[in-house]
Amino acid sequence: MFLAGSAAVVVAACSDDDTTGSTDLKTTTPATTIPETAIPETTIPESTIPETTVPATTIPATTTSLAPIELSGDPFTLGVASGDPDSTSIVLWTRLAPDPLDGGGMPSDDVEVTWELGTDETFAEIVATGVITAEAAHAHSVHVIVTPPRATDGLLTYRFRVGQYTSAVGRTKLAPAGSASLARFVSASCQNYQDGFYAAHRDIAEQQPDFVLWLGDYIYEGGAATVGEGAAVRSHLTPEPMDLDGYRNRYALYKSDLDLQAAHHACPWLIVWDDHEVENNYAAEIPQDTAEASAFVARRLAAYTAWWEHQPVRLDPPQASGEYRIYRDAQWGDLVGITLLDTRQYRTDQACGDITLSLDPACPETFDDDRTLTGDEQEQWLFDTVGSHGTTWNVIAQQVVMSNLTLNGAVLNFDQWDGYPANRDRVLRHLADAEVPNVIVLSGDIHLAGIGILRDGEPGIGQAVAVEFVDTSISSSGLIDPAVTELVKSFPDIVDVELAYRGYTLHTVTPTDWSAEYRIVEAVTDPESRVTAYKTYVVDEGAAAVRSVG
Ligand code: FE
Ligand code: CA
Repeated sequence: MFLAGSAAVVVAACSDDDTTGSTDLKTTTPATTIPETAIPETTIPESTIPETTVPATTIPATTTSLAPIELSGDPFTLGVASGDPDSTSIVLWTRLAPDPLDGGGMPSDDVEVTWELGTDETFAEIVATGVITAEAAHAHSVHVIVTPPRATDGLLTYRFRVGQYTSAVGRTKLAPAGSASLARFVSASCQNYQDGFYAAHRDIAEQQPDFVLWLGDYIYEGGAATVGEGAAVRSHLTPEPMDLDGYRNRYALYKSDLDLQAAHHACPWLIVWDDHEVENNYAAEIPQDTAEASAFVARRLAAYTAWWEHQPVRLDPPQASGEYRIYRDAQWGDLVGITLLDTRQYRTDQACGDITLSLDPACPETFDDDRTLTGDEQEQWLFDTVGSHGTTWNVIAQQVVMSNLTLNGAVLNFDQWDGYPANRDRVLRHLADAEVPNVIVLSGDIHLAGIGILRDGEPGIGQAVAVEFVDTSISSSGLIDPAVTELVKSFPDIVDVELAYRGYTLHTVTPTDWSAEYRIVEAVTDPESRVTAYKTYVVDEGAAAVRSVG
């Protein structure tokens, strides 16, 4: 609804052209061609997101020659975000949506948005600025890659402006270019809006980490739950999304949460998806309910498109057909190399009908050599990339639990790596054969805090090649009864689990040790809940083992 008179705001509409000029193709640098002494930049799929480096004085702050557009209110209701930092540039994001829960409420024209990069909250010094088009075809979302002058390699701030409106201020930073002695970052996943409030995000913002690694389930696709005592704490409001409008409204609902916005405003995020960004336990082009198979490819494209529109990712939007590559890598100086996987899009369907918690031996299909969680291409890419960054630590950031939780031949959850044993064997064998040092696997999906040892070979016996940290969930309800805690801990390669609390993991990394602090939300039903340190596990450089420090 438009407000009357002076409340209506006139801003400039514009053509598709990026008025800041340069449009570069980011080139993918195969890890194998990088000289040993160089610090490789982030290797990502090619992107055509406009990249700009412009001194403030050369760019008009606004354009005035284009047709006016009226906005019905403040368009910056979804906050701002930054992501995919490398050592020279970062992606800034926002979406214009004065009526966020009902299609956005924007006119059908494209709109020009001014972005500004500063060094503090006052923007007394603007180190770069430009104008970017918010395209109506992409829900007036904005993705701009900015390259600040190298002089500003500490804290960066950014904001957007349209007409009289100015967005919230985000804080961000580039990845260090050379040696790095410290990285503090979060791994987190699974924020079902209906299951809890986001006290965990408020705590993430207060921690001021260097970055957040998001491992999936940013939205949940379920319909509107009943709210009340013993039921959902808040409602999705709308039915299960099946098309682009539905997914856009669902993202807008999640992003309207101010604690989630605060966590985005605090630091850059590196984001991959899991299943609920589309549908529970889907596999490639196979939906959970096979009766819906014919419509699923279009539904998945709608979900992928809305994901791109709402995330600060250094990627082009998905095209009308085919696969959409989001797996990519990043690094934090010479300290941490990161491979970010997509274990949903290329996987074989879950074996044995995807039954859960059956104690019968897994059906023979489970052990087929050609079953894959990563797809062949991504598997080869992982082998080429993990360990290629010349960093002390090598992270495999992915979705589903990799540690062995099989029980006398029974697979308790066919959706995780246990259901794809041949693929897992190849990955762990590669880590052993290639002697990839100091591998940390970060996982989400299963809504529990867990620490596991990954072995090339039999559980409890094979060579330890990595440590796995499972981050529990920001808000999504636990899936396993805390009453079986001791049973889960009794698996040979499980070091510890915590099943009752929601939260996230705060990692503090130095050249000599990796410290994973599990932070837990005391009451997920309380938006003001305290969030406290629960336990901390440390990996010493050179050993695929953990020790508890309380
Ligand atoms: Fe989840
Ligand atoms: Ca999941």
